[in-house]
Amino acid sequence: MRILVVEDEKEIADGIVAILEQEGYRTDVCYDGFTALDEMLTDVYDLVLLDIMLPKISGLDALCSARNAGIQTPVILLTARSRQEDKIFGLDSGADDYLTKPFDAGELLARIRANLRRWENMQSSKCSFADVYLDQTTMKLCGSIHSVKLGKKEYQLLEYLLVNHDRIMTRDMIVAKVWGYDDNTEYNQLDVYISFVRKKLKFVSDTVVIVTNKGVGYCLQKTEG
Ligand code: CA
Repeated sequence: MRILVVEDEKEIADGIVAILEQEGYRTDVCYDGFTALDEMLTDVYDLVLLDIMLPKISGLDALCSARNAGIQTPVILLTARSRQEDKIFGLDSGADDYLTKPFDAGELLARIRANLRRWENMQSSKCSFADVYLDQTTMKLCGSIHSVKLGKKEYQLLEYLLVNHDRIMTRDMIVAKVWGYDDNTEYNQLDVYISFVRKKLKFVSDTVVIVTNKGVGYCLQKTEG
């Protein structure tokens, strides 16, 4: 699980990171709203902890822009302000939850777990498109013709493309989501895995395909006509 922490007060940011890393979450930190928006747009995070009052652009503006760009990552707003209208505005802007500073470590972690659970349930129910769906318990891709067992990476790759069907997902986004940022050699693996999952899609369904957008990435969509 990878969490983005956006907090301009370095001591608070350090404290949050220490709490999260102790629980085994991978974390990245940024200290202004502009960088936060850039990071959110990579779509590689499982959750974002987002302060409202930030340099450059506010957390709420960054959140609105990310939501408008189609980013659905769960966002918990962190703020010193406890005024009711800020909470309402934050939730209306697309935040999933709200924590008022100062908060304790136990509450922070419980909110993170609750939001991740909700998100995972939503993702697994969304892992269907046209006549195909992913069965998480059996790790199978099921279609109207057949079903077929998937390897772990094949499953993660198809899950990502299915959830984002009809959107062009760039090679960078896919590699970051499925393999992580750690290794450049994964770009070759992406092509290999795309050809694996294409064959399996063809076996289970005659209506869903992965289209190559040359030099950009891939898009899972229905066949035309
Ligand atoms: Ca702040």
